[in-house]
Amino acid sequence: MKPAASKSESWASSKPPLLRFLDRCHADFSSETGGDVADYIPELGKADPDHFGISLATLDGHVYEAGDTTIPFTIQSMSKPFVFALALDTLGAAHVESAIGVEPSGDPFNSIRLNSENHPFNPMVNAGAITCSGLLYETKGRDAFDYIRQALGRFAGRELGVDEAVYASESATGDRNRAIGYLLRTNAVIKDNVAAVLDVYFKQCAILVTARDSAIMAATLANRGVNPVTGEQVMTPYAISRTLSVMTSSGMYDYAGEWIYRVGIPAKSGVGGGILAALPARLGLGCYSPRLDKHGNSVRGIKVCEALSSHYDLHMLNRSDDARNSIIADYTIGKNPSRRSRRPHEQKILDTHHRDVRVIELVGTLSFSNVDYVSRRLAATPRPQFVIFDLRRVAAVTHAGARLLAEEFRELENFQVMVILSGIKRSSAGWKIVREWTGGLSNLRDFYLLDTAIEWAEDQVVYRHGGSIDFHDVTEFSEQPLLAGLASEELSALASLGTVRNYRAGEKIVAAGDPATSLFFLRSGVVHITLPDGIRLATLTAGMAFGEMALLEPRRSADVLADASASAVEIPISGFERFRDQHPKAGERIMRNLAQLLADRLIVANTKVDLLTAT
Ligand code: GLN
Repeated sequence: MKPAASKSESWASSKPPLLRFLDRCHADFSSETGGDVADYIPELGKADPDHFGISLATLDGHVYEAGDTTIPFTIQSMSKPFVFALALDTLGAAHVESAIGVEPSGDPFNSIRLNSENHPFNPMVNAGAITCSGLLYETKGRDAFDYIRQALGRFAGRELGVDEAVYASESATGDRNRAIGYLLRTNAVIKDNVAAVLDVYFKQCAILVTARDSAIMAATLANRGVNPVTGEQVMTPYAISRTLSVMTSSGMYDYAGEWIYRVGIPAKSGVGGGILAALPARLGLGCYSPRLDKHGNSVRGIKVCEALSSHYDLHMLNRSDDARNSIIADYTIGKNPSRRSRRPHEQKILDTHHRDVRVIELVGTLSFSNVDYVSRRLAATPRPQFVIFDLRRVAAVTHAGARLLAEEFRELENFQVMVILSGIKRSSAGWKIVREWTGGLSNLRDFYLLDTAIEWAEDQVVYRHGGSIDFHDVTEFSEQPLLAGLASEELSALASLGTVRNYRAGEKIVAAGDPATSLFFLRSGVVHITLPDGIRLATLTAGMAFGEMALLEPRRSADVLADASASAVEIPISGFERFRDQHPKAGERIMRNLAQLLADRLIVANTKVDLLTAT
């Protein structure tokens, strides 16, 4: 007992590497005491300069925390991106974009200056942010502040409160912002009561958040507006991507150019000591440390962002992707036929025309480059009549990927190539995207199982080349591969031991787990062999044996169900044993045939494994 307990203790003290990294940043930068706590808003001056918290939220909703991550501080200018996104979604992009520019100002955040059209330069400086609050005030009136507070709460994933003292303090001293407010009104950028608009703005700046909240808010920006912790779509992807754009160009005020050059992660700071950084599709970072540099950005917060970016090489413009790695297997049905056993004349057709059916198994995310590569790879080889795209390992399709895929399907339709999709459930989000983009295509089919898709395509090939599948054909014992090589008296001796059974469509003939006391020779119709979880192992047509493993195994390992109505000869194992005693040569022949059939199945199974490991 003892060693096991100590083993689990040591394992429990292990830390994910990213958490160790944040701990190390916290330890290293705690000694950094440069910069000053903001005191132009007197109440802010009371912050403890030593507080230091770092949180990092991943897009699967995990939050790493180091240091003082639960200390509340006022959000200040970190509210600006969220209120801008809210304004875009509430009032419509055209309205907001006509009132506020998107150019960097190169000025400090509190500059009392408008652009050449007398509009704010961008929504990340005070003039632009006050305009956003003003636009919301125009439609929401006295409810504007609460509307903003609740929206920010959805980004954080919890209800957020206000620091009344900081609000009162800024309200009492915020004449610079008042000057900006009147400048905006005189230029008709805001129309309403300036005092009321500033009241909304001051309150929104006094909303209390923690480093942890900031990280989750940033992660929501990095996740196209879906809060990774609550799963809520907080804002539209349009509002989020435009918000990230202005954070990129202007989020760090007159340090923005340097910031995006060195760190390369869209970010926003606030004079309360917070910095949040949102790396699209990766993470959200939230830092709190109230000592600020001359631009009004947290000194330690900047250090953490720089360290994270350089240690993991996360600069957003430093990316690459291999377009080829989404194809996991690419073959024709010659290499990987369906699990349906075919009669000789059908098999011959399929052997001759195996190139008519091409299967491409895809994996991961289907992006612009991945789908483009797939379409070029298809075009580079002789044109098939059927293309099966197996999507069961595809985790996501980007907007561009879906569009290119739909365009490729249309191209294939022009050449009368049938497109078959497998591996996506009709209830899935992926299916909805595919339908949305491919509506109206006549050449599209889908089957959940790849094997069913291949079988369907095979059937089409067989039909097209005149090999009809006749379910009413009754086959003779002599056609059974298991009985190949037996003399006619041996065949009739064996036949006399059997009983003809007829089955209705869907009837269970053999159940997994039952004692295996007989074997069957299918005379007509079709049966499926399936595992109890529904996975199909094989489809058999007239002329084939099933339940033959009873010769080796005492219990049934799979279910056998009649697909259409079917008839079979059932021979009890006890009778078969007697036959073997009386006809030892025939008995040996059958066992050899069985070994051959099993070897053939193994070869097919090995080829399938090979297909997946070789590409
Ligand atoms: N409330 C502060 C102001 O308007 C916000 C400024 C900031 O965080 N950069 O001055």
